[in-house]
Amino acid sequence: MKLHFFGTCSGTRPFKDRHHVSFALEADNGIYWFDAGENCSYTAYLMGLDLTKIRAIFISHCHMDHVGGLGNLLWNIRKVTGVEKKLPIGGDIDVFIPLKETFDGIMAVLKNTEDNFRIPFKVVPHIVDDSLCYVSKADGVEVRAYHNHHLPHDDGDPWLSFSYVIKAGDKRIAYSGDTRLEDIPNILTEKTDVFLMETGHNDYRDVCRLIRERSLPVEKLFFIHHGKSILPDPVSAEKEAREIFGENVFISDDATSVTI
Ligand SMILES: [Zn+2]
Repeated sequence: MKLHFFGTCSGTRPFKDRHHVSFALEADNGIYWFDAGENCSYTAYLMGLDLTKIRAIFISHCHMDHVGGLGNLLWNIRKVTGVEKKLPIGGDIDVFIPLKETFDGIMAVLKNTEDNFRIPFKVVPHIVDDSLCYVSKADGVEVRAYHNHHLPHDDGDPWLSFSYVIKAGDKRIAYSGDTRLEDIPNILTEKTDVFLMETGHNDYRDVCRLIRERSLPVEKLFFIHHGKSILPDPVSAEKEAREIFGENVFISDDATSVTI
């Protein structure tokens, strides 16, 4: 299996060589896409990914640095199905998103694009809650959502921001989404092969210290959704992170892939 990083930046002003956050897990029989920042499908396509292998898209929350590329991603899937004469591998594309209003808005924009966005497959929305939200028998992939405290929340209201834990074969991958430091232990409750952690709202050094001081079971730590503690000098940041965490910490870059 591979993890592909399409965008590694937090919601900054445009930043050279980095786009807003998006990555995917590619298994033998499908691609599982997480967040959809600007340009994600452009980058993925030029990296050689087959967009018709996407089975499901998971959005952590509806801020623009996580959904800005969603409309274009769906548009590009349609374009590829038309030009390459093939259908999405799973038949339909499932979109897991916390706010139906955002999904409906994106679909309304698409409806007025080429050929009124007529497509030979369905884009199926699912509103995210705290649950095992997706199971792919084709790949043995399971995705569970955990609410976090990135966005304000009142008792009784739906949660609007989520982290995801992916089980794929014998691997466990946790993705923070945008989150607070105190939310991290909730998704690191058992051995986690890969932890993808944001630094738009957290200093990478605090993340490394928390994991080590609390003995949280993380094998490999990848930073993604970089914020101000990383963006000015990622090389020095990676060096300093290794002094705290050990050698298995990485600062991800756009248009790169790792085998897990
Ligand atoms: Zn963000």
